[in-house]
Amino acid sequence: MSVLRLAVPKPLRRPFDYLPPRGLSPADTAALRPGVRVRVPFGSGEVTGYLLSIEDDSSIATKNLKPALTVLDPEPLVDASLLQLCHWAADYYQHPLGEVYSTLFPRHLREGRASAPAGTPGFRLTTRGKGLPADALSRSPRQAQAIALLRRQPEVSSPEFRSHNIGAAILRKLAQQRLVEPCVISGRLPTVEVKPALRLNAEQRTALEALTGTANGFCCHLLEGVTGSGKTEVYLQLIARCLQGGKQTLVLIPEIGLTPQTLARFKARFTANIAVLHSGLTDAQRARAWEAARSGSAHIVIGTRSAIFTPLASPGLIIIDEEHDSSYKQQDRFRYSARDVAVKRAQLQDCPIVLGSATPSLESLHNGVSGRYQHLRLTQRAGTATLPELRALDIRKQSLQGGLSAALVSAVDETLQQQQQVLLFLNRRGYAPTLRCHDCGWIAECPSCDARFTVHRRQHRLRCHHCGTAKPLLAQCPRCHSERLLFAGLGTEQTEDYLRSRFANWPIHRVDSDSIQGREAMQSLVREISTGEPCILLGTQMLTKGHHFPGVTLVAVIDTDALLFSADFRGEERMAQLLTQVAGRAGRADQPGTVLLQTHYPDHPALLAMLSQTYAQRATQLLALRQASGMPPAGFLVLLRTDCANADYGERFLQLLRQRCAGHLGPEIRLIGPLPSPMPRRAGKYRAQLLLIAANRKDAQIAARELVAEADALPARHGLNWTIDIDPQDVF
Ligand code: ADP
Ligand code: ZN
Ligand code: ZN
Repeated sequence: MSVLRLAVPKPLRRPFDYLPPRGLSPADTAALRPGVRVRVPFGSGEVTGYLLSIEDDSSIATKNLKPALTVLDPEPLVDASLLQLCHWAADYYQHPLGEVYSTLFPRHLREGRASAPAGTPGFRLTTRGKGLPADALSRSPRQAQAIALLRRQPEVSSPEFRSHNIGAAILRKLAQQRLVEPCVISGRLPTVEVKPALRLNAEQRTALEALTGTANGFCCHLLEGVTGSGKTEVYLQLIARCLQGGKQTLVLIPEIGLTPQTLARFKARFTANIAVLHSGLTDAQRARAWEAARSGSAHIVIGTRSAIFTPLASPGLIIIDEEHDSSYKQQDRFRYSARDVAVKRAQLQDCPIVLGSATPSLESLHNGVSGRYQHLRLTQRAGTATLPELRALDIRKQSLQGGLSAALVSAVDETLQQQQQVLLFLNRRGYAPTLRCHDCGWIAECPSCDARFTVHRRQHRLRCHHCGTAKPLLAQCPRCHSERLLFAGLGTEQTEDYLRSRFANWPIHRVDSDSIQGREAMQSLVREISTGEPCILLGTQMLTKGHHFPGVTLVAVIDTDALLFSADFRGEERMAQLLTQVAGRAGRADQPGTVLLQTHYPDHPALLAMLSQTYAQRATQLLALRQASGMPPAGFLVLLRTDCANADYGERFLQLLRQRCAGHLGPEIRLIGPLPSPMPRRAGKYRAQLLLIAANRKDAQIAARELVAEADALPARHGLNWTIDIDPQDVF
């Protein structure tokens, strides 16, 4: 007897056994390879499972085994090393294997449809098209250009058409006139042409040599380069060598908003096929990019977090840009770190990986110090630009307007008068974070969360930034009916209002997730700013990520104090990264920049440290503190979270779990909790957590497995959900 053992995309941490589909011969069954997709009945429906192994026995009685419906692939669609990566990730993150497998595939394949034939979709001329007189399409030059391309080369791929600015609509029109027809092009695409590179400076050259010195086989490099030091130029030259070796490069970037900018730079350098993968794509676009990566027809794959699981026909290099960015960690369901998965992937596929950042995470720096990663540094800005100067601006006793002190207002004024650009950073969107009654002290709070409503005055709404609840902005206090409602605290809308009245003659751009929606909006803004016309940019974190604003010479952080007081153990690391990144937007071209930090605490040690030290120096200090406290990267964390409709049950569940595990866990494991989460109630659910700290990764892993096994065995009442988070980002 043969049994198909499958991973099924359900939140269950065990495999499922099925009989082979009816009609599949024993010989064909035996020949099936792990990783093929198998359509199976599950509950009252059907799902796509993934073959783990063929067994000759099952712990389930044969009469209770159901036959699978169909085997969908003759061969696995992804290679063995990627399957191995899934097994590693499922085990490391304690996530159900079937769900990890399904992150490999675009939707149509998860839903059990057929994979496109290997090769790249393209077009060729029909007989009619071949006979077309040369001037027949003179009224539509794009169509004529497409035909001309096909006269030179019998089959042209869609990506090649796109690189000539000939999109799907034009080809559709030609196909309707029966002049061209679709085809699938197999075999390798033309080699890539690399346009002239910049002349590297000495530091860049040293880095590139070190990177290429070990270019064959696995090696993890940490490229620490101050903002504007020319890391991207180093990536480009490294990619060029990878392409010349006939291999593909996978590049991860933190933000979908950065893709057009990155793409433009890559396209300016290479005539390569570049596949882009991010959350803003339609299913069809994603499927196309995925197939291009898998078949090898994409030379370069650029994507955000989940692109780390994209199959590659011939992987040669992985680059993680802005490796410190917290968006690489998925914060729900499968809580993986794309950076850490990438390092494992590079190891399994035996290719080099580069983690680049101006402000590397302490984790990566630690690996650099310990020699696990090769640590390369670019300490100077490329070209002629110099790094900006950081200064604290004491705002004690100062009157503030829109959050700005008089000193800052005049600095802004001066900068604009000199025809330069200003960037103001305020990490809070909306008008004000609190609506308060002046007469009785009532505060508008979200009914479902332990959180205040944010005032969004433009939309005339109160909105909860934690669960999305929104309601109309009140005109009266619901408790005492007073109409004296105050907007307390500061948000970007409020500062924008002030700026518009004070700097009425200058362009002002507010950049936050309310005002900028979609990549297009950000892209057109970046274009406008790059004209260099004087303007004020006011924005949240969205502004600080990777964009280049060469005309900005004044950067100000409006509310530095909000960064100074964070309860999380990563608070100071985040502040140092954020301030360095914000500062890095300034003075990139020939004018030097200034960075002003408005604060009530000009003597705060963390602030003084930031002002007197480089990020690298500060990071070294913070790393020593982590070592002393046993927190990551000196220790390893596992966080078990519960959410539950019942106020007490979550903590009771975790208490029970703790008792059950206590006997098995070694003395090297510390447990903290159960405790209510930092926000104890969110979206109507009560949240609690149990934190585990281990001195080494292995112990943390063993303990995590133990916790999961026990938690799985405990009955969960009151609709309790629990999740496990390995290497969590936020703890307190
Ligand atoms: P990073 O990625 O470290 O922020 P970039 O690669 O974007 O830095 O480089 C910053 C700026 O310096 C860009 O405008 C880039 O064109 C320029 N640049 C980079 N390397 C050189 C070089 N070797 N010579 C001259 N300009 C350079
Ligand atoms: Zn009141
Ligand atoms: Zn809420």
